Amino acid sequence: MQAYCSRCVTDREIKNPRSMILKDARPETHGVCPVSGTNVFRMRTASSPGTFSADTERR
Ligand SMILES: [Zn+2]
Repeated sequence: MQAYCSRCVTDREIKNPRSMILKDARPETHGVCPVSGTNVFRMRTASSPGTFSADTERR
């Protein structure tokens, strides 16, 4: 799992990744950049509730 680091200005592999759900029910993964130690996070839009409901209707 990678996330964009604003300090390195590039994508970095997330160190100590943790999954959490935001207040508005959007899932995200956050952790620490292994190079600069900056907090990084990535939204997991692919597994949003909208996508899930579409999957249940797939044959
Ligand atoms: Zn970094």
